[in-house]
Amino acid sequence: MENSIQDINRELMLDANATAGLLYEIFGLEMTAAPTECANCGNEGEIGTLLAFTHGPGIVLRCSTCEQVMIRIVQTPEAIYLDARGAVYLRLALPKPKSEPMMENDSLGG
Ligand SMILES: [Zn+2]
Repeated sequence: MENSIQDINRELMLDANATAGLLYEIFGLEMTAAPTECANCGNEGEIGTLLAFTHGPGIVLRCSTCEQVMIRIVQTPEAIYLDARGAVYLRLALPKPKSEPMMENDSLGG
C-alpha cells in the first residue's frame, strides 16, 4: 500500500463542470450522474462526486471517501485509454430512445 495520500494536491483538482465536459467529450454521454463504486472502500456515488485531477496527460478520478485512484483516462490523438481498475463498476446509462413506439410482437405467437 502506498502511503502518499497526503501528496494529493488539491490545487490540481478540476472543477466538476470541467470534468463533466471532458467526460462528455470522451464517452458521448452525460457521465456526472453515472453511479460507480470504489474498489478500495466500497463507497458508491456518482462520478460527478469523485475528485478529479489533471496532473499529467489525462484525467485521474479519485474516490471522494478514501482518495484512492478509481479511474484514469488518457486521450491521445489516436485513442482513449481508460483504466478503471479502481472501480468495481461504472454504469453508463444509454440515451433514452426517441419517441419510437415499442415493436409489436404479436406475430410471433407460433
Ligand atoms: Zn474509496
